[in-house]
Amino acid sequence: MNDLDRAHHFARSLRMIVVAAARGAALVYLFRGLSTLVGGAFWYMERRPLLKAGMMPSSEAYEWLYEGAEQLLPAVLLALFSSALAQWLVPAPRAACLRCGYSTEKLTKPVCPECGSPVPLDRPEGD
Ligand SMILES: [Zn+2]
Repeated sequence: MNDLDRAHHFARSLRMIVVAAARGAALVYLFRGLSTLVGGAFWYMERRPLLKAGMMPSSEAYEWLYEGAEQLLPAVLLALFSSALAQWLVPAPRAACLRCGYSTEKLTKPVCPECGSPVPLDRPEGD
């Protein structure tokens, strides 16, 4: 296992942690959203006579719907884009010159063509 393989392995583990954290947060938002909606529905059923009698403004009567949706939206987004988020936060490592950052992935000589400093070639070592 060479350094680049190790870096890829580390990035993969880090991405799995990010995905798990994003999905955990999505679950928290999901439960909060659902409990807001269920609680709001009961609240609404109790007060429907007031609403019908014109004793409660309709803007107030449906507030729980918006509050529930505000929780469910991040839940859906976090669940859908957890892998994309992980990919963005933990990009794939690439072999590069330590001094100038030039990509050393396709080099045949252990010298950076950009700045001339020595670079270790990442070759499969068969371990
Ligand atoms: Zn260089």
